Amino acid sequence: MMIEEVNTKRCTKCGEVKSLEQFYWRKTELRFSSWCKFCENLQRCQSLSQERKKNPEKARETWHRYRIRHLQEMRIHDAERQKLYRRRFPEKARLLARQSRLRRVNDPERCAVFKTKRAQYYLSQDKEALAKNAKIQRAFLMDGYIKVCIRRKYHCETNNITPEMVALEREHISLMRLIRQKKKEVA
Ligand SMILES: [Zn+2]
Repeated sequence: MMIEEVNTKRCTKCGEVKSLEQFYWRKTELRFSSWCKFCENLQRCQSLSQERKKNPEKARETWHRYRIRHLQEMRIHDAERQKLYRRRFPEKARLLARQSRLRRVNDPERCAVFKTKRAQYYLSQDKEALAKNAKIQRAFLMDGYIKVCIRRKYHCETNNITPEMVALEREHISLMRLIRQKKKEVA
C-alpha cells in the first residue's frame, strides 16, 4: 500500500495521478518535476513553436546545428522513416522523389553536393554488399539497373532519363532476355 503511494504522483498541470516514471527527475533539485513528462513536453513543444514563429531564421540555424551534431543518428532515423513512408504511400513517395530530383537537376550546386555524397557513400559501403545489390538490381530489372543500361547504351545523362524511357528499356531488356532464352531452348 505504502509502496504504491510512493511510486505515484499527481501532476499539478493535468491533475492525473501517474507513476513516477512519468515524471522527469530534476537532478539539481533532487526531486521529481511537478508536471508529468507529457505536460512538460507539450509545454516545451508549444513554446518552441511560438519561438520558431517569432524568429524563423534563428530556428532554422538551430535546427541546422542540431542536424550536423547528430548527423549519424539522424541518418539512420531518416532512412527508417523514409522506408516506412515509402511502404505506406508508394505513389506519394515516388512523386516526392521525382520532385526532389527535378529540384536537384535544376540546381548545379545541389547537383555537385549530391554527386560527392553519393561517391562517399559508395566508398564507405562494403564491396560484397554492393555487388549483391547490383545482382538483385539486374535480376529484377530495377530502376537503378535500367538507368545504368540507358546511360551506357545511349550516353544519356541520368538527369535526362524519364520514367517512360525506363519503362521502355525495361520492356526491351526483358524481351531480349526472353528471345535469348528461347534460342537456347531451340539449340
Ligand atoms: Zn500532466
